[in-house]
This record gives sequence, C-alpha cells and structure tokens, in this order.
Amino acid sequence: MVAVVNARPPRFADALVALREVFGYGSFRGFQAEVVAHVAAGSDAVVLMPTGGGKSLCYQLPALLREGTGVVVSPLIALMQDQVDALAQVGLKTAFLNSSQSWERQQEVEREFLLGELDLLYLAPERLITGGAKELLQQGHVSLFAIDEAHCVSQWGHDFRPDYLGLAVLAELWPNVPRIALTATATAATHAEIRQQLRLEGARDFVASFDRPNICYRIEPRQAGASQLVDFIRREHPGRAGIVYALSRARTEKYAETLSQHGIPALPYHAGLDAATRRETQARFLREDGLVIVATIAFGMGIDKPDVRFVAHVDLPKSVEGYYQETGRAGRDGEPATAWMAYGLSDVMQQRGLIESSAGSLERKRLVTRQLDAMLALCETVGCRRVDLLGYFGESATPCGNCDTCLAPPQVSDGTRAAQMLLSTIVRLERERGQHFGAGQVIDILRGHSTEKTRSWRHESLTTWGLGQDFNEAAWRAVVRQLLARGELAVGPHSTLTVTGLSWEVMRGDREVPLRAEVLRRAAAASVSGRRSPTPAGAAGAVQDLPAELDDTASALFEQLRVWRGATAKAASLPAYVVFHDSTLRAIAVVRPRTRAELSGIPGIGAAKLDRYGDQIIALLESCGVPESDG
Ligand code: ADP
Ligand code: ZN
Repeated sequence: MVAVVNARPPRFADALVALREVFGYGSFRGFQAEVVAHVAAGSDAVVLMPTGGGKSLCYQLPALLREGTGVVVSPLIALMQDQVDALAQVGLKTAFLNSSQSWERQQEVEREFLLGELDLLYLAPERLITGGAKELLQQGHVSLFAIDEAHCVSQWGHDFRPDYLGLAVLAELWPNVPRIALTATATAATHAEIRQQLRLEGARDFVASFDRPNICYRIEPRQAGASQLVDFIRREHPGRAGIVYALSRARTEKYAETLSQHGIPALPYHAGLDAATRRETQARFLREDGLVIVATIAFGMGIDKPDVRFVAHVDLPKSVEGYYQETGRAGRDGEPATAWMAYGLSDVMQQRGLIESSAGSLERKRLVTRQLDAMLALCETVGCRRVDLLGYFGESATPCGNCDTCLAPPQVSDGTRAAQMLLSTIVRLERERGQHFGAGQVIDILRGHSTEKTRSWRHESLTTWGLGQDFNEAAWRAVVRQLLARGELAVGPHSTLTVTGLSWEVMRGDREVPLRAEVLRRAAAASVSGRRSPTPAGAAGAVQDLPAELDDTASALFEQLRVWRGATAKAASLPAYVVFHDSTLRAIAVVRPRTRAELSGIPGIGAAKLDRYGDQIIALLESCGVPESDG
C-alpha cells in the first residue's frame, strides 16, 4: 500500500469553462447547469433524463469542479474500458476496477487513486459491496458518488440487480460526499424506489421531459416477417447502424441470417453465446459504422453509441418501460432516427398465455398483465404515439407530427357490427360446443372458411358461419387485436378467446367500437416528407442552426471526413464516434474552418481534441480545395 495519500485538486473553478474546454460544447442542455451546480456544491441529486439527454455531464463536470476523485457505480463492466477510452480522448484521467483486470493492473489503479491522479474511477456495484473497494475509497478522497442506471435498484422494475440494494451503505459511510443517482426510467414507482432504497430521501429531484423529438415512432402490423424488416432498413437506413430486438434466441439468429443474406451486415446477440463472442460482437458494433445487431433484451444497456439510426422490434415488447428504454438507444446524437415495430396477434396471444401459465404470485401476474396491456394499447392507439408514450410516464403532450399516426392518421370506422359478430361467435361456441377456441378458428368461422378442424366440429351449423366475408383474415386479426387492447375481449387458457364484461356492453349495443382501418405501408411514404426537426431544447444542441440537409459540396466533404475518421479510429482502436460525432463532422463540412481558432468554435471540439486532430483536419480541408462557403 502507498503511504502518500493526496486529494486531486479541483481542475476547474467554473462549470461553463470546463464544459467548453473539455467537451467543446458552448452551452448546457436542459437543467444540466443546475444539476452540476447543485452537486458541485456538495448536495445530493436524483436525475431522471431520457437516454441521450446528457446525463454523463451531470456527474463528470462536478467531479472536475470538486477536490478528489469522482466514483461512478455502473453495472456494465464490459463497457468500462470504452468509457475510459472515450474520456481519455477529451483529456480526462479515468480508470476502472473490476474483476476482468490483472492483479498488477488493479494495484496500479489503486495507487493512482490514492495519489489523487484520477478524475473519475468506475466501479461495479458488487465491487463496492463485497470487494475491498470500500476500504480503498475510505483511504483516499472521493469527490462524489454517481450511481448510474439507478433503476437497477427497483425490484419491480425491468432490470433489477440485487447488488444495487447494497449501495444504501454509501449514505452511512460517506455522509458528507454528495451522491447523484441517474436513470432513464421514469415511472413514478421506480423513482420513489430509487429515493428510498438508495437513501436519497433528502436529494433534490431533477426530472426532464422524456420526449425524444428526433425519434420517429412507427408501429405496423406484421405481414411478412423478416422481409418486412429488410424492406424497412433498405428503404430508410441503408448502411447505417441499428439494433433489432427479438424475444427468443432462435429468432435473433434467424433474423440476423436473413438480413445478412440480403446484404445487410448483421450479427445475433443473446445470452446463449459465449462471453468472448458477445464481447467481440459488442466491440464490432461500437467500432464499425453500419452493423446491425439482432438481440434479445440482453443487449444495449449502457451502450453509448450515439449514431444508432434505428431500433426495430420484431416482437411485441413486454412493457412500455422496456420499449421506451430500448427505443431510446436510437439517435442519441439528436439526428433523425426511427423506432420501428412490427407485431401481430400471435404475439399478444403467446404473451398472455405465458403470463397465465407462469408460476409467479398473483400480484406479479397482475403487474405483468397490466404492463402488457399498456404496451398493446400503445400499439393499437389511433392517436399520437408520443402523446400516449409520454402520458404513460405522467407527462402531457400535444400531437407530435413525427410518428406514424400523426404523419398518416389512421382512418377510423365504426366497427361495432364487426365486433358484435366476433363476440357473439365466441359466446355461441362456448354455449354450443362447451369450450373456447383460438382466434384462427373463430376467424375461419366468420369467413366461412372450411378446414379440417371446422368440419370436425361442424362449425358450419353455427348461425354466424360465413357472416364476416367482407373482411379478409388480416382485417379480422386486426379487429381481435384492437378488442384485446381495449379489454373488450380477453385471452383464456391455452391461448383461446373469451368474452369480458365489456364484451357484453358491445353486444348489447351500449358501447361503440371505433376501429382503425389498417392502411398498409402508410408510414413509409409519409415519414420521408414529414420529419420534424428537433426542438431547440432537444438533443441537437449547439448544431441546431445548421441545415439538416447538406448541399453537394458539404456532403462530399462530410463523406471524406468520415473516411478520415474511420482510418483514425481504426489506427487508435477506438469507435469512430469517440473521435468525433457525425454532428461535429457535419458542422465542419458546412463551416469549413481554416484555422485552429475557427475549428475550436465547432461543437464537440474541446482543447484535447483540437490538439490531437486539429492540424489533420485543417490539412484535409485544404487538400480538398473546396471553395469557401459564402453563408
Ligand atoms: P445519456 O447518458 O443521458 O444517455 P449522454 O451523457 O451519453 O446521455 O449524452 C448524449 C450525447 O449528448 C452525448 O453524445 C453527449 O456528448 C451529448 N451532450 C451532452 N450534453 C451536451 C451539451 N450540453 N451540448 C452538446 N452535446 C451534449
Ligand atoms: Zn405523433
């Protein structure tokens, strides 16, 4: 152990100066400035901000303003190296301690910490609870504790990590060190649990709007499985990075294979793959420009890749919380991105069936049923998706103009008669056949479609046989989904359909049923023309004044800058975006700075990056010989 113990002195006296010098950003976003001042002054904070909102600066800057080392608790040890590498690029000295390191390296990091050489130290929660890290930290000087992904403390949430419960001890051992908990999960229940479990009762809350204006939300009925996804990617984001979520390992493999066959580079990612393969896949996703990962939910938390252009769900997510967090991984850089989903009736039936047959407590079943119902309601809404989503998190909004239902409002027609036909078929089956049937047979009956099953049950003799021939099978499936979404129909044992109290109101004519007419592919055409640019408070930050579309010269330059960035990143074994974000390259391409001073005015270029890359960029711009812009 080292005898000398030092506290790292404050690196900056002023937050705005630090923001400009280190990160190259001209101004704070949202309430970042307030959080930074609050924590730098030694007070506790709970920060709820959507993914991409800019949470990291909320603890990185106070750490630079205070004496000592900022300790960041994060569950994601696989990503610590990337975080440390990225911070080294802006000139911060950081390190991590986790079980993946050699004993010698751990000793070295401990020494650096005790000598006060580190701006930030990353730790996994289990390290703090069980490992020797507590003693180490007590010997040195901690400037603040940042608890990232703080929703992991919530036992009813979707990412529970038991080790997080042990973090309450920080309050006891370091009563005078400020603690800041951060998450992108916004439900009131999770928020309350964070405050209570982490002993942050006295902390000030900072709750941002959860809107992500640059993400276009789109949900379509599944018609063609994998080829529907291929079409979407080809049409809207060819050659770009994206994440596709599927619910089973087998499906991730199948979709990854189909995408690859269609010339879209894609890899599967799930818990059944060995650790080395998963690490390699994650590393390639971060480093390569246009790779698509097809993953189970095990992928993505804490992945800071800012240029993910789309997140696609090929199965119905289990909850709106999970869906929102996953889609939030798109477009963290504030540039237009898409959250796309295709789902079908079978998803609903299957998931309801799974809940029904699961072994959990009644309370648990009710909770997951409620979560699934909210997800289904979002899928089937005829209103703005964003209004629905934000409403779920307790936020009110007006129709957004950047979701499928806003861009091409679904036609709503009176579906009461169709609903009555369907429901009375179910009731008749129950009475005359003594049991419930699945959606397939009910729809066959309505359409008068004779199959082996309908013949063996003699369904032809039912009075509703063939009454619904005006609708094709897909339309009937849509009717079933929408009735399920509104609770006017329920799923019984073995994925059968059964009626509810509301069903009777519909059958009696006491309740109208507006149905959305499925307009196929409507969103595709609309989203090209109707993209909403991010709001001033949105994630576009300082580059919001630049044109969204580059002219020909600028876009040629942008492509050249991307090539330079690719080579530079590769040589340094870094992800491309760690060198510069797309938005920074775009700004360079438009402004075409000729001196280091001009270059330093570009958002995303701080002192360290100016030193490292400034001359290369200026040389590249000169060699391109483009005429100076006259704007
Ligand atoms: P979160 O952790 O909330 O998902 P990050 O901290 O990763 O978000 O920030 C998202 C992106 O926004 C990052 O690329 C970050 O560099 C950028 N960013 C954060 N704050 C600002 C700011 N004040 N001005 C410009 N860009 C910012
Ligand atoms: Zn909308």
